[in-house]
Amino acid sequence: MINEKVVLVTGGAGYIGSHACKALKANGYFPVSYDNLISGNEAAVKWGPLEVGDIRDRQALSAVIKKYRPASIMHFAALIQVGDSVKNPAEFYDNNIHGSQCLLEEARQNGITNMVFSSTAAVYGSPLSDAITEAHPLRPINPYGNSKLAMENMIRDYSAAYGSQYAILRYFNAAGADDDGQIGTAYKTDTHLVPLLMQVASDKLPQIQIFGTDYDTHDGTAIRDYIHVMDLAEAHVLALRHMMKNKGNLTLNLGTNNGQSVREVVNTVRRITGHTVPAQEFDRRTGDPAVLVANATEAQRILNWQPLYSDIETIVSTAWAWRRKQNKQGHRGAFAPDTEQRRLAA
Ligand code: UDP
Repeated sequence: MINEKVVLVTGGAGYIGSHACKALKANGYFPVSYDNLISGNEAAVKWGPLEVGDIRDRQALSAVIKKYRPASIMHFAALIQVGDSVKNPAEFYDNNIHGSQCLLEEARQNGITNMVFSSTAAVYGSPLSDAITEAHPLRPINPYGNSKLAMENMIRDYSAAYGSQYAILRYFNAAGADDDGQIGTAYKTDTHLVPLLMQVASDKLPQIQIFGTDYDTHDGTAIRDYIHVMDLAEAHVLALRHMMKNKGNLTLNLGTNNGQSVREVVNTVRRITGHTVPAQEFDRRTGDPAVLVANATEAQRILNWQPLYSDIETIVSTAWAWRRKQNKQGHRGAFAPDTEQRRLAA
């Protein structure tokens, strides 16, 4: 009954989920996107069907699972804005934790035994070392990180009790866009550095604000490990294959082992776009550590995964190509007119 090739992708209309669908399709899988379209965009679903629904809606979820009979799930659907999580933890716990339990229950009751889970470096909290391994203490410092850690724990507990398999993938800073220009950032509101820089380079924002110039780093700005979304997507497919060969559960960092400072990213954007990209120095953003860089050697070793697109030039140039395409089409943001605008116009 179960179809080995079918993968239920929750959040398949989102930024990372849509790139994962493309990679799944390229590797012979059939991705079925399940997305409530609150932050995702249906225009990003190009490599399989879209089923519109919320992970908390067990009836809808059950109907989709019975319709397609997936053998595996890639679980991306979640609220992800750290600032929102501080203001409204109730919403995060309901959507992320309760929603994930609904999904786990439907998976369990329908005999789906493989789950690739979209986790985050936010589960580590304030880093105690420069290159973070998977053994780093798990002490999130905001409700978003707390919710992701709770989801990880739930997945592990289900696996221990019910025998399901998992691959928990902890991303560092996802950035960049599909190099064919078919999809890119799908957020309705950009708060991340690279998409905001693309807006400045497109004259949609007057300047970039640099949050913190007094960090203990070589140029005073914070250092992050930027990982290209296509490399992330590829790692998901490799993790799925690993699970389908019953090679055991995984908890892995996905990053590059390298960091770039905010100023370095800004300078790369200036070089690639030819725009002056005015920058204004601001105070640190609350909760932002100085350095957050992965030790991702385990993922490279176990999955035989090599990031191919994650140098900062490729990240910026693919993000820029995507953004220019959107600009040419007269689009305001990631995909536009976005779902919200379409709803309002209807
Ligand atoms: N950042 C910045 N200005 C912005 C957005 C981000 O200086 O407008 C900095 C932020 O403080 C962090 C880095 O850029 O050091 C990456 O931030 P982002 O929000 O992209 O990802 P995060 O590391 O928070 O997950």
